[in-house]
Amino acid sequence: MCINFFVFFFIRADYWKSQPRKFCQYCKCWIHIYFQCLQSIEFHERGKNHKENVAAKISEIKKKSVDKAKQERRMCKQFAAMEEAAMKAYEEDLKRMEMEARGGRSNEEEEEGDTF
Ligand SMILES: [Zn+2]
Repeated sequence: MCINFFVFFFIRADYWKSQPRKFCQYCKCWIHIYFQCLQSIEFHERGKNHKENVAAKISEIKKKSVDKAKQERRMCKQFAAMEEAAMKAYEEDLKRMEMEARGGRSNEEEEEGDTF
């Protein structure tokens, strides 16, 4: 009965094609889940290599996120400074335009006054 069950699965090629497997992102390898051996993932994850790879990945992610945070903070500062500078330039532009508009009108008035 047990052997028949085994042979039944073994003969069915599509069973092997659709063999469930799990990709270990830390070790960059596939862990095959054999029908009798669901603990193969557990076995893999208990392995020394896998644990080392996980630890390496975690430290890499930590380092990356710290770098990213630093970069973002720097970008934020730069952006804030840029925004402030742009705002100042805009305000100065507005003032200049206002003064020019006022000055232009008063010049015209003066010119008109001169013609009188
Ligand atoms: Zn692994």
